This record gives sequence, structure tokens and C-alpha cells, in this order.
Amino acid sequence: MSREVVPSLIGPEVVSQLAYDIAEAAPYLSELDGATGDGDHGINMTKGFSLAASRVDASSNLSACLDVLSGTLIDDVGGAMGPLYGVFFEALAAEASGHEWIDAATFAAMLESAVRAVLEIGGATLGDKTLADVLIPSLDDVSTRLAAGDPFDEILVSMSATAEQSRDATKDLVARLGRASRVAERSRGHIDAGAASCAVILQSLAATLRRRLTIQPQI
Ligand code: ADP
Ligand code: MG
Repeated sequence: MSREVVPSLIGPEVVSQLAYDIAEAAPYLSELDGATGDGDHGINMTKGFSLAASRVDASSNLSACLDVLSGTLIDDVGGAMGPLYGVFFEALAAEASGHEWIDAATFAAMLESAVRAVLEIGGATLGDKTLADVLIPSLDDVSTRLAAGDPFDEILVSMSATAEQSRDATKDLVARLGRASRVAERSRGHIDAGAASCAVILQSLAATLRRRLTIQPQI
């Protein structure tokens, strides 16, 4: 018997890859936010993730690195995304804590806790045109595939595809929460900026985890 797992010593790589992927997407994120909001989403995100990457200790485990990222987003970043992604990574860190290896079930538990935290603090539901419209279907997809016994690698590939599709589907929605709700009907026709950054985050996490997937013999 063996199982697919990711060692917990990938924390610095997870955070630096997130910072890289967010910085690369920043112009696109700000452009989307500019269409329905104040155009600062790419700047907010890049500031937070880059600062966190510079603060992460190279020898820390995944949980500790995600905690640094969470603290940085909550303490040092403005906009709606600071507290929202702050609690997202705080919950991911808490669920990863104590695990020497991350397997599909642990990852699913991490994501479930993180999504719940965002929904609790932000009060978003499906269809509000926020990052929740990417988080909820992506989590559903992971849970369904975990229950079906799919391999971890396939779960991560599928989650990335679902994140992308659900990001694109926010285009047809009307914003009911956050700054974009002020333009209401005029938000239709634009992909939500937070949904787009959320897809970047989930895809970045999936890519790093997949790179470090290994087969661990079960004792
Ligand atoms: P601000 O709106 O303060 O300028 P950002 O531009 O950083 O903040 O983030 C905007 C994104 O935050 C939106 O595109 C939306 O996806 C997300 N958002 C806003 N309010 C909420 C909320 N209550 N719950 C979930 N996501 C939200
Ligand atoms: Mg904004």
C-alpha cells in the first residue's frame, strides 16, 4: 500500500510561487478591478504576497509559512482582500499544522476550513460575484473527487480547471457584495477581480503541491 503525499517542508516554495504568480497576474487583476471597483486589487495582492515571501523563514514548515502569509495580509494590506485572504491562509495553516505529510484528505480538510473561514468573515454566498464563486465550486470538486477515491494529482488538476471555469462564470453575475455592488448591473460582463485572484491562488497551490508529490509507503 502506498499513498500520494507532499512533505510539509515546501512552505517557502508555496509562498514564493504564490508571490510570483500573483505579481505576474497583477496588471490583469487591477484591470478587472478597475472595470467595477477602484482598480487596486493587483497592487494590494502583490504588496501582500511579496512582503510575505520576503518574511518567510527558509527552514519553516508549510503551516508556519502560511501563518506568516496570513499575518502579513491581515496586518499590512488594505482593501477587502487583506482580511479575506488573511483568514483563508490562517485556516489552511491551522489544518496543516502537525502534519509531516500532506495527503489528499488533509488537503481537502485544509481547503474546507479555509473556505468556511472566508464565507464566515465575508458573508458571501454563491452568486454574489466574489471570490466565493471560485472557492465554493473548487471545494465541492475536491470533496467529490476525494470521496470517489481519485489520486491526489488528479484532484489538484481538476481543482485548477474548476477554479478557471468558475472564475470565467462570474462574468455573467451581478455584484451583490463589496465595492463592485455599488455599480450593480454594470458589473455584468466583467470577470470579478477577487474570483480571478482566487483562481491564481488555487492554481499556484496546486502546481507547487503537484511538483512535490511523492509516493509514501504506508506503515
Ligand atoms: P476593495 O474592494 O476594498 O478595493 P480589493 O480590490 O482588494 O478590495 O478586492 C476586491 C475583491 O474582494 C472583489 O472582487 C470580491 O471578489 C472580493 N470581495 C469583496 N467583498 C467580499 C466579501 N464580503 N466576501 C468575499 N469576497 C469579497
Ligand atoms: Mg479594489
